[in-house]
Amino acid sequence: MPLAFSSPTGTMTLQDLSKSLHDCQRCKLAKLGRSQVVFGVGNPHASIMFVGEAPGFFEDQKGEPFVGAAGKLLNDLLQSAGLSRDQIYIANVIKCRPPNNRDPEPDEVETCKPFLMQQIQLIRPKLVCTLGNWATQTLLERKVGITKVKAQAFYMKDFVIFPLLHPAAALHQGNLLDTLKEDFKKLKEFLDRHSQPASAESAAPAAPALNIEPPQPAQMDLFGS
Ligand code: URA
Repeated sequence: MPLAFSSPTGTMTLQDLSKSLHDCQRCKLAKLGRSQVVFGVGNPHASIMFVGEAPGFFEDQKGEPFVGAAGKLLNDLLQSAGLSRDQIYIANVIKCRPPNNRDPEPDEVETCKPFLMQQIQLIRPKLVCTLGNWATQTLLERKVGITKVKAQAFYMKDFVIFPLLHPAAALHQGNLLDTLKEDFKKLKEFLDRHSQPASAESAAPAAPALNIEPPQPAQMDLFGS
């Protein structure tokens, strides 16, 4: 049965959402040289989702997130945490490449965020790993630096956010690579703590099955709320 939720227009699937954005013209990025909308890729039943910032040159060419140098590093890091790309789902906050890989602009994030939220609602991951400041601040809805919050679990209403440094940051600043590797070790520890043995009939690629406990008020203290 396809994953679906009710919308005012009926029942939408992840595929419907992807199709509806195929020729998106909602923000200026549509006219600023993007080749295509990069919706997302991976297991639509994933319990773990990774969210980056925006497509770069290679992603724009191929129509898939994280296929360039940062993607290669991400693949190695995933492997170190016992994950493969076919077990997870990967998307970006914004779905179109900004010119010259500039930072996303606030109106672009505002326009595209609802589609990221719809992806999350349809996939229903238990864990969302945000890569870098943009994804982390967009989903935590706080202007907080990644170095302050990385490699910790933040319990939201429907899922847990686990922020990580963006792999591209480690490619630009070699001294961050060890930190990133350490943080993926912490991710693996978190997954090991919360993994349930996969049931015989569950589809293997959607593993690991996660059992994450309810919100822990102590986490909120980090934001002083
Ligand atoms: N960086 C991102 O944030 N996303 C990609 O898809 C590629 C590089």
